[in-house]
Amino acid sequence: MTSTSSNPDPTTPQFAGYVSHEDLLTCIHCGLCTSSCPTYLETGNENDGPRGRIHLMRGIEEQRIELTEKARRHLDLCLDCRSCETACPSGVQYGQLIESFRNSDHQKQLANDPDHKESWFDKYILRDLFTNRHRLERILWPTRLMQWLKLDRVIDATGIVKLLPTPLQRMHRMLPKLKPYESPLPERIDAHERPARRKVGLFLGCVADGMFRSLHWATVRVLQEAGCDVIVPHAQSCCGAMDYHSGHTDVALQRARTNIEAFKTAGVEVILVNVAGCGAMLKEYGHLTQYSAGDADDLNQFAGQIRDINEFLSELNIEPPGGPLPVRAVYQDACHLRHAQQIESQPRELLRKIPGLEIVSIPEANICCGAAGSYNLVEPDMSDRLGNRKLDHILEQNPDVIVSANVGCSLQLQALLKQRKLKIPVLHPVELIDASQRKLSLEELKQ
Ligand code: SF4
Ligand code: SF4
Repeated sequence: MTSTSSNPDPTTPQFAGYVSHEDLLTCIHCGLCTSSCPTYLETGNENDGPRGRIHLMRGIEEQRIELTEKARRHLDLCLDCRSCETACPSGVQYGQLIESFRNSDHQKQLANDPDHKESWFDKYILRDLFTNRHRLERILWPTRLMQWLKLDRVIDATGIVKLLPTPLQRMHRMLPKLKPYESPLPERIDAHERPARRKVGLFLGCVADGMFRSLHWATVRVLQEAGCDVIVPHAQSCCGAMDYHSGHTDVALQRARTNIEAFKTAGVEVILVNVAGCGAMLKEYGHLTQYSAGDADDLNQFAGQIRDINEFLSELNIEPPGGPLPVRAVYQDACHLRHAQQIESQPRELLRKIPGLEIVSIPEANICCGAAGSYNLVEPDMSDRLGNRKLDHILEQNPDVIVSANVGCSLQLQALLKQRKLKIPVLHPVELIDASQRKLSLEELKQ
């Protein structure tokens, strides 16, 4: 495992490096990953590709290269999509390298300048609002009302949004048409059959529960049909990805402890996640042990219980759903599923069980759509370039529906579809299985 130091306290002299030198040396500079890197494909600059970035990190670590604004820019532009990890024949763990680098860089900045302040957007929007499903739900009420009264169109037409700070303009643009309100999930939902085949936990996430609760209800219905009792501990917290990726490892660790306790009390064998980004973070809670060795057993055990819903339903070998759904579907691989969790075939296998559904492939299926957590809010130009590149490939296939297993990708694609005035639904694989089980048509699904 990558470690920044045996003592990660940035105020001590021992805290010298950014990333373990040993781990940086695993890259043999073969360049086989370069063509799988979205930012390299867009800029053609070696420093915007994985090999160049590893070279930069190593140079900085060995104090041969200064961490100038220009060097930092090449590293900041990385989406942490980990497509390069899948492509690398030498097993370089690029995700751990860049995440450790960013964490230690953040801690060094704080150590050198204790008054260093994070931006209001990072603090109040990304880390306070987006990490709290209750707060998100409350703040979305006025938005629901505006959309219901169609005032959002008036706001768009007046151009008043342009008066907002740029990140808020982006947020406005990313906001999807919200589905009708559905009540929060209860703490326990029983399987349709008794005795139940399995007792499983469900992780809610924050943006997922605030904006895509219908996905959670669809997940529960499919699990009930598959003979599972579903436990939804209300004491669970955000996965901590937003904090971890912005260098706030102490907060991420605290959230991890809350989740471990909540699901331990629930007494479940596995914990299911229907959002690829959260699933990748939860499966990698073991990385947090470098910040608190005393939590190692709990973190590793919890990480071992996490399953993506596609992975779990595939292992369970669920019955093919009954209702035909004759649609042409493009399945969009979420990087945090395909690269971070190595889950590629399972969602496709599940979708193939739906009678009448045709899955069509797209070029560059391994390349990121530009969503990448909060990347589409903080790096709008590159995010738009990648999003439009992805959407062009998708639209060439003339799909009736786009399928994605990550709410971040869904938001990104929905925003770009809206910009092009196209009405193609973007749905999770589980929502299509649920629709088939309930014998819904595509038209009913669009509502
Ligand atoms: S994580 Fe993605 S964007 Fe970053 S270097 Fe690897 S392939 Fe490129
Ligand atoms: S990360 Fe892997 S594929 Fe890329 S240059 Fe290094 S060794 Fe080669």
